[in-house]
Amino acid sequence: MNFDLLRRSAGGLRLGARRRTDLVGTDGLAPSYNGVMLAQRTLKSLARAVGVGMHSGQKVELTLRPAPPDTGIVFRRVDLPRPVDIPVNPSAVCDTRMASTISPGGDPGAPKVQTIEHLMSACSGLGLDNLRVDIDADEVPILDGSAASYVFLLQNAGIELQDKPKRYWRVTRPVEVREGEGDKLMWARLEPHHGFLLTFEIDFGHPAVDATGQQVTFDMGSGRYKRDIARARTFGFSKDVAAMRSRGLTLGGAMDNAIVVDDSRVLNAEGLRYDDEFAKHKVLDAIGDLYIAGPMLARYTAFRSGHALNNKLLRRLFAETGAVEPVTFDDAAKAPSGFAELAPAW
Ligand SMILES: [Zn+2]
Repeated sequence: MNFDLLRRSAGGLRLGARRRTDLVGTDGLAPSYNGVMLAQRTLKSLARAVGVGMHSGQKVELTLRPAPPDTGIVFRRVDLPRPVDIPVNPSAVCDTRMASTISPGGDPGAPKVQTIEHLMSACSGLGLDNLRVDIDADEVPILDGSAASYVFLLQNAGIELQDKPKRYWRVTRPVEVREGEGDKLMWARLEPHHGFLLTFEIDFGHPAVDATGQQVTFDMGSGRYKRDIARARTFGFSKDVAAMRSRGLTLGGAMDNAIVVDDSRVLNAEGLRYDDEFAKHKVLDAIGDLYIAGPMLARYTAFRSGHALNNKLLRRLFAETGAVEPVTFDDAAKAPSGFAELAPAW
């Protein structure tokens, strides 16, 4: 892994947080959340990552900072003469060709941050609502190609409960987007669900990928994000590399930050981290892409979707009147199973 970690205390950020010890039941069994609000979360201290951008190949430094309640996730380009803030939301997405790229208000001429999806996925998996991400280049470092390095960084910085209720987007009726036909068909759908459940099916028509698990279902309430999803790496096909590099893409790609597949097999000496690592990485990406809207209560189902279709799905969800509504849980016991405990990192 191509990064180092520096941590500093960000004092004065306790904000009257409800500590986990307040939540432990007296019966010695499961903690009791009755009457305790499901609160927003930020970091306890700073975390810093140094690495290269997958596409730009440039060295980049990223500093993850605590942020006040209701901030959401905001990137800040600190390398520009005057720093530019880019709040993360579905309309900030300005390019989805190889990664999810954002700019202020989605303006294609404005300063950008590319490849936000793995960091966003880690934030979703840890239930982080508010964060400022200072970045000194236009691409988030790829680190090991998965979300595991970001989970590690964020958990090391610690997670702080804040004094405002966490807000979810509850999907209230099905919304679907669909593109192509036959072997080009792809679709993605959101439906009402009391929780966050994802099913993704891949179909690359490639022997090495087809030999692995093609469909993954993951329940965010299971508490298994870190173990079952976060370690799945991005992947690329060696036959595409020359063409992509000639277009200035994947300049930072290497065997230590991606699975590389030739015409018939996986080239990485260590093999795969999961039997179904390709499909799991698509779930990891979908979690990150959907978190651009914030935490969601929905069932997501997709076939061969990608960053572009995931963003189209979010835009359709918010464009359709009455398809989504904000909800909070003043009593965490009424939240979906597992959500109050989500990836505890205290
Ligand atoms: Zn990815």
